[in-house]
Amino acid sequence: MPFAEIEGHQKQLEALIRSLEGNRLHHAYLFLGPDGVGKRKIAFSLAAAIHCPFRDRDSCGQCETCLSVRDGNHPDVRTIGPETGKREITIRQMRDLQRQLEFRSFSGKKKIAIIDPANIMNYHAQNSLLKTLEDPPGDALLILVANSTASLLTTVLSRCSRLCFTYISVGKVAEVLERRSGVTPEKARILAALTGGSLGEAMNCDATELLDQRKRWIERFSSLSLGDHRGVMALAEEMAGDRELSLQVVQWIEGWYRDILIHQMTGSEYEIRNIDMVESIREAASVHPLDHILSVLSLVGRVKRELQRNYNRRMILEDFLINVATRNPQ
Ligand SMILES: [Zn+2]
Repeated sequence: MPFAEIEGHQKQLEALIRSLEGNRLHHAYLFLGPDGVGKRKIAFSLAAAIHCPFRDRDSCGQCETCLSVRDGNHPDVRTIGPETGKREITIRQMRDLQRQLEFRSFSGKKKIAIIDPANIMNYHAQNSLLKTLEDPPGDALLILVANSTASLLTTVLSRCSRLCFTYISVGKVAEVLERRSGVTPEKARILAALTGGSLGEAMNCDATELLDQRKRWIERFSSLSLGDHRGVMALAEEMAGDRELSLQVVQWIEGWYRDILIHQMTGSEYEIRNIDMVESIREAASVHPLDHILSVLSLVGRVKRELQRNYNRRMILEDFLINVATRNPQ
């Protein structure tokens, strides 16, 4: 995608374009910021801008070169991520990359490697990458894409030029959604608030379906009551059938209790995500004891991790929903 078509992140894009203009790109970048804000897309835009023969300092987005970069088929642009079934990027992948970087580029331009997500490189992979970062081949450009620096070695971090990305404003996300997806202003506003300023996430949804689905699930889990084992079992069974759905619903549960907490602490609707359900949030905030909200929220983190690790979904969800039911006001 050409830089010109990217929404938001103007400062970061200008910095990249200036470096392209002056031929002053660093040999390694760290694109740092939360998921869904467009870091990977911008890494590919940079790769296309370097290789597209039809534009200076940007790409045309339509030529054969641009399309091959976009589709991951360009011989000088590689993406390194976890291999199927793996949770780490390994030293073997880094050694492969190093071997490839030793050859000259096919196009005579830069050889680009996008490591995404870079924060799952294991220790040995990072140490191996360090050698490349310390002595990079002249035509190499490495882009590390990460949502956190926590697991990255300081030696790796110190050799990358850092570009930080943040969520674009909820108002901007809503405006883009309205313009690009043709949803109503009302829906755009709800969706933007719900996804917390992640344009990627917001653009990926079928707005109407998603909003309705969320509402239905919220109504179901917030009406579970103590001793309602049948309700808990039915809900758990339905969620457990689909890993993505179970993660999504847990996220909705988190968002719901988060909103109740915010309303209870601030007495205002500012910062609430489920903005189309303010009435119900206000009502729930008036009857939920604070320690119940906090205990559901603290369970959510654990449940998400367990679901991602593919433990017995149904058991995890039953346990979790019993907890939610116990803490719902009776
Ligand atoms: Zn092009």
